[in-house]
Amino acid sequence: MRGLAYALSIPSEYLESVSKGVPVSASDTLKFCPICWTPGTPPDEMWLSPKAKFCMFCGTALCDRCSNCNQPIMSLTFRFCPYCGQPYNTTSNQ
Ligand SMILES: [Zn+2]
Ligand SMILES: [Zn+2]
Repeated sequence: MRGLAYALSIPSEYLESVSKGVPVSASDTLKFCPICWTPGTPPDEMWLSPKAKFCMFCGTALCDRCSNCNQPIMSLTFRFCPYCGQPYNTTSNQ
């Protein structure tokens, strides 16, 4: 198993979870820039970095939850918070 993971240059934990049929979580938290991100499009992977706290394009603090009701973001394919209807992108309602 380790040799195969090394050969494919992917973590052996990933191979193990795949072989067990356990879903792998891509990242712990979904984060995005409320200014630059267009809802419904894939977020820049830099925003999803665990170390990223601010947008590298505009310096705005990244959001990982609804700015209105503080519920964690379920999916970045959502355009609006399913709990309160707040648009995730603060520029989309202008
Ligand atoms: Zn930005
Ligand atoms: Zn909300």
